[in-house]
Amino acid sequence: MTIRPALAFSLLLAATTAFAQTLPEVERSIVPVAAWGGTPADPAQAHRQAITHITLHHQGEPFRPGTDPRQYLRNLQTWSRNTKHWLDIPYHYIIDLDGNIYEGRKIDFAGDTNTEYDPTGHALIEVVGNFEEVEPNQQQLDAVVRLMAMLAHKYDVPLDHIASHRDFSTQTVCPGANLYRYVQDGYFRHKVALRLAQEQAGTR
Ligand SMILES: [Zn+2]
Repeated sequence: MTIRPALAFSLLLAATTAFAQTLPEVERSIVPVAAWGGTPADPAQAHRQAITHITLHHQGEPFRPGTDPRQYLRNLQTWSRNTKHWLDIPYHYIIDLDGNIYEGRKIDFAGDTNTEYDPTGHALIEVVGNFEEVEPNQQQLDAVVRLMAMLAHKYDVPLDHIASHRDFSTQTVCPGANLYRYVQDGYFRHKVALRLAQEQAGTR
């Protein structure tokens, strides 16, 4: 198949546009708690933290296509507070099936976990789905990279502090074998390094 120059140009433009978000723009694109119908946590009850690590999780349950992510987040917030008696959703960011990023717990507040590691200092990212059973889609992988790069840039987190739940806990398979593969083979660290270099050079 031959591609006419005009078409080739518009394809190229589409590709660069998709990649054109600066890291501050990535941060601004995050859906805030109020926009999904959540309520703020009580700051007086919060355990404050400074970010030193970026740690990836999965939902660990199937996320059916057509599920409203906002409803899922409201349910997760209610369950976290009423059943687990946590301050808030345990994660700071949640990524849906389309690669949209939602704010969970405030990043200044340390997360929570059912396992034995101390999440203080960790920016916790949850990707919806169970990656023991399904593969992450490309939008989800791209969103993880964007978000990790934004966080690494903002909080000066070294690349070797980008990891996942099971790297800190023997009690879990989280973030699931099919997502963990991208942690283990260095995909995320590599893509984040590229993104940070582009941000530095201003050549996104
Ligand atoms: Zn986890």
